[in-house]
Amino acid sequence: MKKKEFKAESKKLMDLMINSIYTNKEIFLREIISNASDALDKLHYESLTNKSIKIDPKKLDIHIAIDKDNKTLTISDNGIGMSKDELENNLGTIAKSGSLEFKENNDHKKDIDIIGQFGVGFYSAFMVAKKVEVISRAYGSDEAYSWTSEGIDGYSIESSKRDEYGTDVILTIKDDDNEDYAKYLEDYEIQSLIKKYSDYITYPIKMNVTHQHLKEKTNDNDKDEYETVTHEEVINDLVPIWKRNKKDIKEEEYNTFYADKFMDYEKPIHRIHTSAEGTIEYNSLIFIPSHASFDYYTKEYEKGLQLYSNGVLIMEKCAELVPDYLSFIKGVVDSPDLPLNISRETIQQNRVLKTIANSIENKVLKELEDLKNNNREDYNKFYEAFGMQIKFGVYADFGMNKEKLKDLIMFYSSKDKKLTTLKEYVERMKKDQKDIYYACGDSVDKVDLIPQVDAVKDKGFEVLYCTDYVDEFAIKMLQKYDDKELKNVCDQNIELDSKEEQEELKKKNDDSKDMFSLMKEAIPEVKDIRFTNKLKNHPVCLSTDGAISVEMEKAMNAIPSAEGNVKAEKILEINENHAIVKKLKDLYKKDKEELKNYAKVLYAQSLLIEGLSIENPTEISNLIANIISK
Ligand code: ADP
Repeated sequence: MKKKEFKAESKKLMDLMINSIYTNKEIFLREIISNASDALDKLHYESLTNKSIKIDPKKLDIHIAIDKDNKTLTISDNGIGMSKDELENNLGTIAKSGSLEFKENNDHKKDIDIIGQFGVGFYSAFMVAKKVEVISRAYGSDEAYSWTSEGIDGYSIESSKRDEYGTDVILTIKDDDNEDYAKYLEDYEIQSLIKKYSDYITYPIKMNVTHQHLKEKTNDNDKDEYETVTHEEVINDLVPIWKRNKKDIKEEEYNTFYADKFMDYEKPIHRIHTSAEGTIEYNSLIFIPSHASFDYYTKEYEKGLQLYSNGVLIMEKCAELVPDYLSFIKGVVDSPDLPLNISRETIQQNRVLKTIANSIENKVLKELEDLKNNNREDYNKFYEAFGMQIKFGVYADFGMNKEKLKDLIMFYSSKDKKLTTLKEYVERMKKDQKDIYYACGDSVDKVDLIPQVDAVKDKGFEVLYCTDYVDEFAIKMLQKYDDKELKNVCDQNIELDSKEEQEELKKKNDDSKDMFSLMKEAIPEVKDIRFTNKLKNHPVCLSTDGAISVEMEKAMNAIPSAEGNVKAEKILEINENHAIVKKLKDLYKKDKEELKNYAKVLYAQSLLIEGLSIENPTEISNLIANIISK
């Protein structure tokens, strides 16, 4: 029998499993039962959609057998089975390659994380078994094959026998070392593991259970005698959790179901279990995860809910049930009103599905609203993970959903550097405050240092801090909240001053018009130069005119595919109270060339403050050196 090598990644994962220090080894059973259940799902589904396949759905089941003499635990199913090639491809290579990449990128984390985060399917058997044999016969084939592996060295495949289609997974349980493996050969232990992890499986999980019975006495004086009776029992509950009555389900059961089904071993932050009756009947169990999965913000991530038609799985990820801005939700929808043969093509037109999708969207939004109002701590946690998605939802599709989402978004605020909603901001607004102020930058600390922010705060107004690149796009899409305009403090149009103050400033600017024109010759990329009274200590700042702010310029130019170079219309503002003003005026009289050099340096400073790069660092550095050595 020729031994084949595992693919490199499989080897690594296998090694991890065999030498695992993971304390929760018992999950191997859940993983194997879940594979069996998937195989039954596939056959069941085929039989419903393909008339040439005739099976009795009542006979679909899972059997578990323990053989103490040979130290084996066998999990059998009469599902779709595997051909020789499928055995080779499915068991010789790890399916969840993502999990290994993740592990390698996070090597400082312990092994436990990978198991905890992903579940690892079939290979978890090697946590408790020294040898694993899989005998399988694909539905419709006469041939059976056996796949055997004793671990990392490799596996072999040979012809075998199986009376019926389906699969046996035979685990030869490890000998006890520091750890007790023998317990996996005890009826009681296995039964309780099934109850604990696999109760909701929709196919019967059967097992021979042995009881000690008191023998019936023929004579009253007989001594007590026991007999051993063995019979087959269905261990699991069979009714899927989403079809059960909410009142009878323990928190723990929900969490186990979630972990198992969606491979996330951190408890969800929230769940919504509903059963609707009426024109359209359906059950749904939706979870909001407490963190973004490792692939959530990648192209590989697929949104969607599992779709069942009366207990039969018809689609693993039904994207049509979930709007993009809620793409993080996980869950199950089951409706007897859905046709089994629904396909990717017909799904778009399905009215039932649309109705369900609408009601799920409304429910999730309402629950998020409640969470925000009643449990801010959890909502903050949710927002840290998925707030970006919600803000994205505000401006995506030309703002189609902004009304629904405007009260769910939050921003950091100058008040206490904590997240706040727009509503809360407005409630705190001072009487003489007309607009809502915001400022943008890479981090809360950096925004806090923007000169204009200081000025607004000085007036006693609060500023919202936009630190995600999506923030300002969302705000621009909203334009207003509660009839109050959202204004960037760096926008030159913001008016904090009284009429008199404004006029006084205008006069000063007019008086220096010619000086500014000269300075502009040195920095033609600047649209305008002027004095400002909004800066406290800083000599200069950059503000913008028009729709595009400096932050937007940065964000848009960071998109590789974006066409052309987007430029904000920049205005160099100079603090009218700063000592530099006198110097500039002097130079305008005495040394016009030097004034131009100063203009270049001041502009470079304002760019740096905004987090923009300067095009000519050597020139600027030479100029500064020249100036300070005078
Ligand atoms: P996953 O279940 O996440 O795909 P696994 O490593 O658990 O990953 O299983 C790999 C594959 O092996 C499955 O996707 C399935 O195609 C196949 N498989 C495992 N167990 C069975 C089974 N009992 N019957 C049929 N196919 C199975």
